[in-house]
Amino acid sequence: MAELIFFAGTMDCGKSTLALQTDHNHSSRGRFGLVFTRLDRAGESVLSSRLGLSVTAIEVTESLDIRAHLVDALSRGDRVQVLQVEALCWCGMRAIHNARTVDGVVVVEGSQVMVGDVGEGVGARIDIPVVSYEVLCRRHYRARKTALSAGVEHMSREPLPFEA
Ligand SMILES: [Zn+2]
Repeated sequence: MAELIFFAGTMDCGKSTLALQTDHNHSSRGRFGLVFTRLDRAGESVLSSRLGLSVTAIEVTESLDIRAHLVDALSRGDRVQVLQVEALCWCGMRAIHNARTVDGVVVVEGSQVMVGDVGEGVGARIDIPVVSYEVLCRRHYRARKTALSAGVEHMSREPLPFEA
């Protein structure tokens, strides 16, 4: 029976990688599936992971009715799968929020969609703000406290908050 798997989670939790692995596992067993994507960092109609893997996918546009497309094509049931890979906040706690940042400061207004990190890296212009996303735990998302505003780099050098 066909099913729809919707991979949901924060940035860096492995959504794209798991989708690519799942697609590979099924196709290597001769099972047919469809991969959907939207505004992927690698371009239109591509699903890519930060690990460098990619596959051709169906671009989800405003006019695409995914449910109708799937029902017409192959589906008899739907499923949402929450990923088990935990993304980590700068403090080491489980990150459950994607915070959009401009120069390291959380912003809650403006365009809702921003693909890829812009304004940093090789050839970056210092006069353009660095717009990015940062995964945060609930406490730090609510406090709007990013790694930069907390005075830490990207990773805490402190031991994780586990008790022996
Ligand atoms: Zn945190």
